[in-house]
Amino acid sequence: MVIIMETGADEAQVKAVIEEIEQAGFRAFVNPGVERKVIALLGAMDVQKAQLADHFAALPGVERVARISEPYKLVARNAKPEASIVKVGNVSFGPDSVTLIAGPCSVESRAQTLETAHLIKEAGAHMLRGGAYKPRTSPYSFQGLGKEGLEILAVAREETGLPFVTEVMDVDEVAQVAEYADMLQIGARNMQNFRLLQRVGRTDLPILLKRGAGARVRDLLMAAEYIAVEGNHNVVLCERGITTFEDYTRYTLDLSAVPVIKHLSHLPIIVDPSHSSGEWRYVAPMALAAVGAGTDGLMIEVHPDPASALSDGPQALRPDKFSALVGQIKQVSQILGRSVLKNETADA
Ligand code: PEP
Ligand code: MN
Repeated sequence: MVIIMETGADEAQVKAVIEEIEQAGFRAFVNPGVERKVIALLGAMDVQKAQLADHFAALPGVERVARISEPYKLVARNAKPEASIVKVGNVSFGPDSVTLIAGPCSVESRAQTLETAHLIKEAGAHMLRGGAYKPRTSPYSFQGLGKEGLEILAVAREETGLPFVTEVMDVDEVAQVAEYADMLQIGARNMQNFRLLQRVGRTDLPILLKRGAGARVRDLLMAAEYIAVEGNHNVVLCERGITTFEDYTRYTLDLSAVPVIKHLSHLPIIVDPSHSSGEWRYVAPMALAAVGAGTDGLMIEVHPDPASALSDGPQALRPDKFSALVGQIKQVSQILGRSVLKNETADA
């Protein structure tokens, strides 16, 4: 249930509503709307619902009470009608621009990461990506450089000015990764690791939450709700492909998730065409299709020498291909009346 305040409702009226909510045994969360405040009621609510709705609707300053039938409350669009903007340093994810994250699948060495970081910045990327802790299907595959990888990413940020996102796989590693990273990534395999979601929800870093390969949009939004309910509302969602019967691509990129999520939630949604394709030749067309579908950003794997990559080489774009793709992304965005986010670090 959400309580929608009148446009002119004052602080005292909002406060009185919050007190009433708490007295009834619920938690209140105030969504800071530009025009009007929307207060969400959190907590189990069964039989009393109808009575409560009438009670709150009659309070001073309340415009109306809406019952949210979806199981997610904080991330729902009807709890906060305007789209959220999530900031990562001087980069932002939101409805007016297309934000570009690029970089290698894994941080393999200082030289590989620094070279990639400089090249993607030149091409126009806004953020660097790279895994220091890697979730690999096989325990015999390269598992990432761990802390050394985080240190390398920090040097790359220092040299280029690009903030970076990197995956955190375990509750016990959150504090360490948070010391270095500008944004924490929850990978597809951990989308329903509820303890991990709660733990990153207690950090003050923005979170990139990737959709699980077997997860419905509803499950993804519930995972985001786990983070938000802990107090961290800076969540960017990422569609990265789901498992279907098709196997010419690594996963099937569910581009319909973009408009669906924009309808259901106020959170930004970006697309990863690399992991879904599994092959570099499909990355550019799907990236452009994602812009057409209204994505708020893209995350693309780039490697200076894909043939020697320690993970996901076949899907990595060479830097020159990435650079050409950025040009096309700008053209498509322009046609659709959206801009590619201005690269403040590059223009500085
Ligand atoms: C990644 O982005 O590094 C990654 C492992 O992707 P996913 O979790 O989507 O498989
Ligand atoms: Mn990868």
